[in-house]
Amino acid sequence: AKDAGKNTYQFFDAEMNTQTFERLLLENGMRQALERGEFELHYQPQLNAASREMSGVEVLIRWRHPQLGLIQPLRFIPLAEETGLIKPIGDWVLQEACRQLKAWEQAGLYVPRVAVNLSARQFEQSTLVDNVARALQTTGLEAGRLELEITESMIMQNPVETVHQLGELKALGVWLSIDDFGTGYSSLSHLKRFPLDTLKIDRSFVDGLPDDEDSVAIAEAILAMSRKLKFSVVAEGVENAAQADFLELKGCTLLQGYHFGKPVPATEFPALAAQLSQS
Ligand code: C2E
Ligand code: CA
Ligand code: CA
Ligand code: CA
Repeated sequence: AKDAGKNTYQFFDAEMNTQTFERLLLENGMRQALERGEFELHYQPQLNAASREMSGVEVLIRWRHPQLGLIQPLRFIPLAEETGLIKPIGDWVLQEACRQLKAWEQAGLYVPRVAVNLSARQFEQSTLVDNVARALQTTGLEAGRLELEITESMIMQNPVETVHQLGELKALGVWLSIDDFGTGYSSLSHLKRFPLDTLKIDRSFVDGLPDDEDSVAIAEAILAMSRKLKFSVVAEGVENAAQADFLELKGCTLLQGYHFGKPVPATEFPALAAQLSQS
């Protein structure tokens, strides 16, 4: 027992070193990753719950690292937020997502809408609204085909400044949605004070449908309230037909999840879209 503390310490130390090493590797690499073209966007379909037609896509970033391979966002977005690199990266995502929709359209594939995740730090930029406007202008994408996803906590961190910017974004004609809804602490009636169009029910509540009583109660409550307050609702993390059918029955607007398609690179998306329109 006497050595246990020491062993724990040594283990911890080695672990810390690995983490520090990875962090340094990622942080240094991230500075060049944009200019080297190492980031890529994957596209996940969203379907109209009633008609089961594709209504749009959400874009999700990945980093194709020369040594580490494909890195998922949860491994580098927090670091990008800490270092502030999320600002240029976020601008690139906006630009690239809008460009891709137009490129598909010119190739004969019309994807009605694209949803882009924003990070809290992007709201620190006085240029956020201009950057969104510029992405639309340079690509020619209609504002009504862009949706911006933010989280409850982003609004609550700085409500006064955020609501101001949300108002300006809304004035451009883009759609605004609340991601991971239900995981924060804001009430729906509170959210109604912000110019929001859509709520995304967090995957953790979709998981237990249609059998888990608590999940059912939460999903039904969100859907009933959203209807009254005129929010459209997207369910995320839909993994099977039973979840999809339950959500459709309860009036959910859009469905997104592995059941319909995992996020895929732009090159693979047309095949996925074709498959969805046949089934
Ligand atoms: P999110 O915005 O909540 O995105 C949904 C996540 O759930 C994605 O993980 C997606 O791949 C995953 N997902 C979708 N359908 C299913 C399903 O049916 N089952 C399961 N188990 N998972 C599903 P991903 O791509 O790893 O992204 C993680 C998070 O990273 C995102 O969560 C978002 O917060 C952040 N993120 C991704 N791309 C960007 C970006 O361009 N900018 C910013 N700021 N954040 C991003
Ligand atoms: Ca999202
Ligand atoms: Ca989400
Ligand atoms: Ca999330």
